[in-house]
Amino acid sequence: MERPDPPLRKRSPADRRTWWLQAAGATPNQTRFFENTGQELGLADALIENAVGWMPVPLGVASGLVVNGTSYEVPMATEEPSVIAAASAGASVAARAGGFTAGASAPVMRAQVFLEGCPGDAETRLEAARRHLEAEARSHLVSMERRGGGFRGLSMARLAGLEVALVRLDVDVRDAMGANLLNTLAEAMTPSLEKALGGKKLMAILSNDAGLRPAWAEVKLTLDPDRARRITLASAVAQADGQRAVTHNKGIMNGITAMALATGNDTRALESAVHSFAGSSGTYKGLSRWTAEGGGLHGRIDLPLALATVGGSVGVHPTAQMSLQLLGNPDSPTLCSIAAALGLAQNFAALNALVGDGIQKGHMALHDRRSAWLKDQGR
Ligand code: NAD
Repeated sequence: MERPDPPLRKRSPADRRTWWLQAAGATPNQTRFFENTGQELGLADALIENAVGWMPVPLGVASGLVVNGTSYEVPMATEEPSVIAAASAGASVAARAGGFTAGASAPVMRAQVFLEGCPGDAETRLEAARRHLEAEARSHLVSMERRGGGFRGLSMARLAGLEVALVRLDVDVRDAMGANLLNTLAEAMTPSLEKALGGKKLMAILSNDAGLRPAWAEVKLTLDPDRARRITLASAVAQADGQRAVTHNKGIMNGITAMALATGNDTRALESAVHSFAGSSGTYKGLSRWTAEGGGLHGRIDLPLALATVGGSVGVHPTAQMSLQLLGNPDSPTLCSIAAALGLAQNFAALNALVGDGIQKGHMALHDRRSAWLKDQGR
């Protein structure tokens, strides 16, 4: 296809939409759908570059997820059938047993400043300049310190086999994801770090690792002993077999990513952190563990979650804001606790189906609804 002339970035959003419809060869039905669902082009244009419209993903609600004694109606944006039904089914079994207990750490994120050509005494130079550097970091974080967050740590390391040193800046970002905050801090601190350590900047950016932001959830279910035994074994398989672990974790992220998308969070950052954690032992493993014990089934999940309730598109997108309102306007650790519990509910539902009748029964019922809709549209 020929590149648009004038280029898309030089056109108005409405003009870009017209270009899209023509260039994509939209049929009348497609045009009607696109225009019905693609209102608010101004917001799309404010959120991203070269916006032509919206790619609407269904928004649904998983019902009755009890976390730390509170029952939540959980907004989930997903294009996949069965995900919300499974989350609600898992939530319902857990609710009958008192629900999930869950928690999340203080929301600490890390920025990394990579310096080339640091002298051999850079570590000593860092210690000599520490007070001055920490004071400077705090001066860039005044509003975060006022909120009870702010500067939490400064450290350095050298990368084996590379002439590169790494300075880490840890910050409690309160209810934000912290990407822009930490990128701004890392760039602002770079000249002082270069001067103090005697190196030259290679790059400065946050780490999406989120290892400093662990979340967890647990549940104790009452279950038929043989079903509990089979789920325990299926969970052990996800620790022993990497290929199964990928699918096990995909099922967990069916729930967590859908809630992250509904609340306007950065799903790519979320997923890269989670999958890095799942592989952190050197072998990719399941994020959850289930154990038959005391006539019941105990489940636990641990994973890093950097979910925000302010900032980024969370604070701009009206649907993201409604999603947070539905959840009772939680702070970031509460949202992360709900997400961890949702992932465990989703995981229980999947394992329970897999070791029982299989997952296709539920999937195919929804598949039939899709087929009926397409038939209705004359397709
Ligand atoms: P942001 O830039 O919107 O900053 C958060 C804002 O919220 C700040 O101005 C802060 O002062 C304010 N705020 C108000 N109340 C707060 C509270 N209670 N706690 C914390 N802050 C509060 O958002 P961000 O979190 O710094 O960055 C997130 C955005 O950056 C996302 O859109 C993400 O996709 C994007 N991003 C990600 C990466 C990456 O992940 N590698 C890189 C660049 C940008």
